[in-house]
Amino acid sequence: MPPKRFRTLGWRILLWMSLVALGPLVIMAYQGYHCARQAIVESQEKHLRSVLEARKTGIETWLREIQEDFQFLASAPCVQKDCVGPFSGAATDQEGEFFSLLDHVRKSSPSYETIDAYDLNWKRLIRTTSIRRHDQDLFPSDFISKLQGTDGIVLTPANPHEGGGLDLHVGHPILNSGGDKVGYVVANLELSPTLDPILSDRSGLGDTGKVLLLSSEGRCLKTGTDYFDPSGRKSHLPPEILSAGSPKVFDYADQEGIKVLGASTAIPDLSWIVVAEVDQEEAFAWLGRLRKRALTTGAVTLVIVLVLAGRGAGRLSKPLRQLAAVSGRIAKGQHEVRLGRLEGTEAREVGRAFNAMLDELAASHRRLMHAASLAAVGELSSSIVHEMRNPLSSVKMNLQALRRRVEGDDAHSELADIAFNQVLRLETMLSDLLGYGKPLQLNLAAIRLGDIAGEVSRVVGKDVTERGVSVDIEDDLGQTRAMADPEQVRRALTNLVANAVQASSQGGRVLIELKIAPNDSNRIVVSVSDEGRGISDAHMDQLFQPFFTTRDGGTGLGLANVKKIVDYHGGEVSAENRSEGGAMFTMIMPKGGPPA
Ligand code: ADP
Repeated sequence: MPPKRFRTLGWRILLWMSLVALGPLVIMAYQGYHCARQAIVESQEKHLRSVLEARKTGIETWLREIQEDFQFLASAPCVQKDCVGPFSGAATDQEGEFFSLLDHVRKSSPSYETIDAYDLNWKRLIRTTSIRRHDQDLFPSDFISKLQGTDGIVLTPANPHEGGGLDLHVGHPILNSGGDKVGYVVANLELSPTLDPILSDRSGLGDTGKVLLLSSEGRCLKTGTDYFDPSGRKSHLPPEILSAGSPKVFDYADQEGIKVLGASTAIPDLSWIVVAEVDQEEAFAWLGRLRKRALTTGAVTLVIVLVLAGRGAGRLSKPLRQLAAVSGRIAKGQHEVRLGRLEGTEAREVGRAFNAMLDELAASHRRLMHAASLAAVGELSSSIVHEMRNPLSSVKMNLQALRRRVEGDDAHSELADIAFNQVLRLETMLSDLLGYGKPLQLNLAAIRLGDIAGEVSRVVGKDVTERGVSVDIEDDLGQTRAMADPEQVRRALTNLVANAVQASSQGGRVLIELKIAPNDSNRIVVSVSDEGRGISDAHMDQLFQPFFTTRDGGTGLGLANVKKIVDYHGGEVSAENRSEGGAMFTMIMPKGGPPA
């Protein structure tokens, strides 16, 4: 499990973006590197092969010349003639035709050290030069037996010696005209003059290339460079190179431990292997440059990705952290805390929606608290009303009896009437209270609010005539109907209109307006305005609270009931003072009825 810090959204975005951006880059670089390496290996393969072919052709041409020389010597008539007859002292006969011929051939190539002739008993007949490194008469036994058993040319294995030289013996039987062996021509060859130019030819080998000549057992015979082991030790070349059977290049460490690419080819007539090598550092120089560039590109990309991903991750995670912080503070009770302005269009939208949700939650919390307090008040009032009803009706009955007793006694009759009227008022108050406390059961119907308004204006008519107040209706709803409980809406509107009439002075005007809400076609606005005294600022917040009244004989339950009815319909009620004087109460109700 990574540490907690690296499990945050920001770090995860950073990690994923780095992986997404760098992953393909690394894969491409890896594939590109290997394709380039393969291409270089293939081109080196062709290159080393052509170098090997050139060297092989050089050596084979030289070998063919030697063969031709010996075939020429063995078949020359003077050689056959001289060898057949008694040949005494010829070894010193420098004037004879035989000697001249051998000496001529010897001087024709720098490879020949000596070319001598022997009879069948290996007694030397002619010696072309006395300068010799070895005792020429001591030939390897298998060389002698091969010569005795063949009519063609025989070569001894090449023998490296001190000073970087390489020598070998070449022999050929001399046949008479009858095809019988009469002697041998044997030459001692020093190969350096011939092979050095071939092996040290640097054309096509670059700065580090080298060519080696090996025996078929893998002994180093000669090289074109200083890199030569005169002891003829077996080299450490891989078996694939020593078998010389594959046209491929192989990578291995050379005698000095340097990593090289090498290929080989065989020269079967001489049992030799020619190896061409080039240092891998030179061969793959471009690859090294490619790797450096890929690393630089990768590093630059990583930095760009880290910067961009860091910024992106910060932009994404910062708003979330702010959201978490604000949510935490709200959870601790700081309900008024709101999100500040967030960076980025989407984050800002989320912030706005979050704040709107908090506002709505706070409002519904307030509504819930209000509903809960109303329910508590309702429950309490119901039980108080219940307890008070019986004593009150007994007081009422007794007062009625007392009133009958004091009939005719004007002074006591008036007192009894006052007491009786107060009891009646108490009774109304108790029934209002009971009504307020009970939960409402709405009977919804599609009603025309204009009809209800007309009924209400007629109901309050008596009060209206007494005060000389006019009640007008402006109905913009036409045939628009609303889903509502007609009885409850009538009650609410009656309360508002009655209050407006009571607040109006003589000759005042009360106006009931009905219209579709200007900013929401699904809501209906019902407002009642008057030209009365208006509402003082101190009372504005308490108007809809139960038992708030400024009127003598008022119960303070009228507006509380209006609010209760409007709340049950899923609407809102508010009060305000009109600029031209008087108050206006507004109910906004959903056209389709209370929300489910
Ligand atoms: P009540 O009528 O029994 O006093 P209400 O709940 O109907 O109870 O009214 C509460 C109070 O609101 C009133 O006492 C009054 O002070 C104020 N009020 C209501 N309607 C108006 C109005 N149209 N103009 C001014 N004040 C009003």
